[in-house]
Amino acid sequence: MVKSPTGVGTAARAVGATKRYGRADSAVRALDDVSVEFPSGVFTAIMGPSGSGKSTLLHCLAGLDTLTSGQVFIGDTDVSSLSDGDLTLLRRNRLGFIFQTYNLVPTLTAEENIVLPLRLGGRKADHEWLAQVVSAVGLADRLHHTPAELSGGQQQRVAAARALITRPEIVFADEPTGALDSRSSAELLRFLRHAVDAYGQTIVMVTHDAVAASYADRVLFLRDGQVVSEMTEPTADRILDAMKGLGE
Ligand code: ADP
Repeated sequence: MVKSPTGVGTAARAVGATKRYGRADSAVRALDDVSVEFPSGVFTAIMGPSGSGKSTLLHCLAGLDTLTSGQVFIGDTDVSSLSDGDLTLLRRNRLGFIFQTYNLVPTLTAEENIVLPLRLGGRKADHEWLAQVVSAVGLADRLHHTPAELSGGQQQRVAAARALITRPEIVFADEPTGALDSRSSAELLRFLRHAVDAYGQTIVMVTHDAVAASYADRVLFLRDGQVVSEMTEPTADRILDAMKGLGE
């Protein structure tokens, strides 16, 4: 693990990350020379106006998209240097994902969905850890239901438990509360917060919701493909003020 000058480990970082779409005359710089670190055990939210590059940054960090130039690292691993096979293994073994659409397998029960990443990696479930995650996410009495028998909030909590089951170095969440009502959002965000506080989980979450971002330890603000400011100990009101300053 990379040590930053403060002595805190760095779970992921981008160095001069640039992503261009289109040809030279009409190119869009979705990311424009972004250098940023994500310390271990810290919950970081990424905010910014629509089109500011949030999803592109998250997808490039997570190895779901490639940079035009620059590098991204997960721990010490230069993601851009990996073969497709090694990238698949990195995503499976070292990263967790939560998307806006829950992406559960409809024919599997909640429990089977949660342990699926372990099965895909040929690993056995650690029953104590499974019980802990299931209990923390409030799903103990729903384990044998299929996704269709669960509410949207419950399905997203299954997806969150699935993201944590491999004890990943970092969890990437892309608008995880985007399809949830405020109560279900709060339940999910409390669980993510708990994962950071109790297990030292590292989380990077893209959101456009100031209340969701206020659960994070730190908020990065993007505009026009660049990180323009950063806030620690955020509150929803301070985040809304900062977003107004970005022209939202
Ligand atoms: P955000 O997540 O902040 O809304 P995105 O990362 O989705 O922003 O997009 C950043 C910029 O890159 C936008 O101008 C968007 O139109 C552009 N962009 C994103 N994906 C593509 C693509 N596949 N092709 C062309 N332009 C894209």
